[in-house]
Amino acid sequence: MGDLKNTCFVCKKPVTSENSEMNTTVNLPVCADCKGTDAEKKAEKEALDSLADGFVCGCI
Ligand SMILES: [Zn+2]
Repeated sequence: MGDLKNTCFVCKKPVTSENSEMNTTVNLPVCADCKGTDAEKKAEKEALDSLADGFVCGCI
């Protein structure tokens, strides 16, 4: 898990702080290539879905 903060959560490519931005929704880095794309939105949703496994929300 040590590399997670240095890997784009969309395409899984290694990134640095210089060529990536933090996606504040999932708190994971996203590279410049994936930033703002539909792929980013999809990966964002998947990341949130996997996080949601640890929570029980009665609001849906
Ligand atoms: Zn990427």
